[in-house]
Amino acid sequence: MLTAIKGNILEALSLDTLGVHPHSYLVLEDGRVAGIYLTLPETMAEAQVTDFGDALILQSFSDMHLHGPQYEYMGTGMDRPLLEWLEAYAFPTEARYADPVYAREKYRTLAHDLIQNGTTRVCMFSSRHTDGTLILMEELEKAGITGYVGKVNMDRDAPDYLRETTEESQKETLRWLEGCKGFTKVKPILTPRFAPSCSDELLTFLGKLKAERDLPVQSHLSENLGEIALVAKLFPDCGQYWEVYDKYGLFDSRTLMAHCVHSDARERAAMSRKGVWPVHCASSNNSLMSGISPVADMLREGQAICLGSDVSGGTTLSMLRTMANSISAAKDRGSMTWDYDQAISIEQAYYMATSAGQTFFGLKLGFPEGELLHAIVLDDTGLPKLPSLTLRDRLLRAAYRLDDRHITAVYSEGIRRR
Ligand SMILES: [Zn+2]
Repeated sequence: MLTAIKGNILEALSLDTLGVHPHSYLVLEDGRVAGIYLTLPETMAEAQVTDFGDALILQSFSDMHLHGPQYEYMGTGMDRPLLEWLEAYAFPTEARYADPVYAREKYRTLAHDLIQNGTTRVCMFSSRHTDGTLILMEELEKAGITGYVGKVNMDRDAPDYLRETTEESQKETLRWLEGCKGFTKVKPILTPRFAPSCSDELLTFLGKLKAERDLPVQSHLSENLGEIALVAKLFPDCGQYWEVYDKYGLFDSRTLMAHCVHSDARERAAMSRKGVWPVHCASSNNSLMSGISPVADMLREGQAICLGSDVSGGTTLSMLRTMANSISAAKDRGSMTWDYDQAISIEQAYYMATSAGQTFFGLKLGFPEGELLHAIVLDDTGLPKLPSLTLRDRLLRAAYRLDDRHITAVYSEGIRRR
């Protein structure tokens, strides 16, 4: 069946190229993109059109780093230092996800709120609990969200009530992978919490498992200086943090590494060489006083950076706000040394929030023809109508001024979800 949505269509065609289609039709055949047209071709004249007027039609967002069990206390205790915050909120709450009823209720809310915010693709950390992780995957898939979810592995450097034994971690990871077989849209991703929380034995196991089953990996890298010092102490044979993941076969073109705030030229060169994907989480870097990532430098080097909300070190689920935060953080970094080259553009922020993630999932950029539609409709018509504003200007303004209340439609896998 032919359908179409009509509005001002914006697609991230490359890091620096915004595809702009004013008042155009995005035509779908059975939910799959058939093309974008200024006027409907005769062969498509019978398409049922949903006209969104002067609203913006964007690619939906890919949130490439967030923690499912942390969403419920997002914004709480944000004036406390990291370790106090972890002990007071993060760890005790995460422990509650051992209870499947509790997990179901919270994860259903998270899945709903992701859709409301226009996020239809994710790479997400769960907790260490196998059943809770499978419940998270179920709730995401039911809501129409696609992507990867990982059961967290941690057999050290965690409170007793959260830590797994090495044997338990291995056994539960296998049980979880068995349970994942029924899912079609939300797939498993190996998730060592970060290098210090996994013993050599567990990392060896995960590296083997990755190779055997061709699984992707997500973890954290060079987020703050204390963590980097701890890694150096725990893994004295590794010259740099990244070498730990590399040593165990967990550092390649299917690996996402959150933060990379303090990755120096050598570490960044290794990421480029191996094809590793850094995930920039500006809000969290600010909340936890981790530092400001050199995003502009990394983009110039050709790193495949994506954006993550990092809920709830990050304080918003909104990828609109996450784009604005990344633009602001880049300017903060530049303003410390009057280096205007540290700034990033809205084209770059939008690309990192959408097409970069699509590429990680093996899809083409923008609205790829033949793929099921993932899109949002953003109504900025309540904002002042300045005659000089281009669609690019409106996208940038939307990142700073709009939120989920202005998202009037969300499409995922070709189906309207909101
Ligand atoms: Zn994180």
